[in-house]
Amino acid sequence: MKIVFATHNQHKLKEVKTLLPSEIQLLSLDDIGCFDEIPETGKTLEENAKIKADHIISVYGFDCFSDDTGLLVNALNGAPGVYSARYAGEQKNEKDNMTKLLSELKGNTNRAAHFKTVIHLNLKNKSYSFEGIVEGHITEKEFGPGGFGYDPIFKPEGYNKTFGELSAETKNAISHRGLAIQKLVAFFKNRAL
Ligand code: IMP
Repeated sequence: MKIVFATHNQHKLKEVKTLLPSEIQLLSLDDIGCFDEIPETGKTLEENAKIKADHIISVYGFDCFSDDTGLLVNALNGAPGVYSARYAGEQKNEKDNMTKLLSELKGNTNRAAHFKTVIHLNLKNKSYSFEGIVEGHITEKEFGPGGFGYDPIFKPEGYNKTFGELSAETKNAISHRGLAIQKLVAFFKNRAL
């Protein structure tokens, strides 16, 4: 059975591929020749994930799942949230995004935040949604060379290191995306394909 994961990110693809049952042939956007600029016009992570998955089924006819992630900071009423990738502008620069966030929180002692991933799955004319959340807080400055995005300034609850300092294995086991993917994998394992 073929299913598209709506991503060009080979790292994400590989990670999910190894976890899914072998009956599932996972295809990327590259594999189906989709290089469309799918507009992420939703006001929520759920809406954006649905827009991507719906685009693939309506234009390419493949069952599909897509993910959308955001960092939600309590003191900023949930910002940057759905705008996490382009918080400091359309150039989507990770360093600029972190600098802007640290400056918005300067002097603020309330640094609680969480990452949230939503996966939207279109399968056999039905749709399903899976969510993963990791609570934590925003540090005062960057720590660690690893990861991507806001990883160097996010310390998950119960850990004394940022995602930028933790190993990829540890991050995947506890992260928002890891948890959402675990739910997706459990869903596939528990149903007859
Ligand atoms: P996407 O929906 O996976 O493309 O994520 C949107 C944006 O959220 C990215 O551009 C990053 O800035 C941020 N982001 C997503 N996942 C992570 C993560 O695991 N660590 C740090 N930042 C992330």
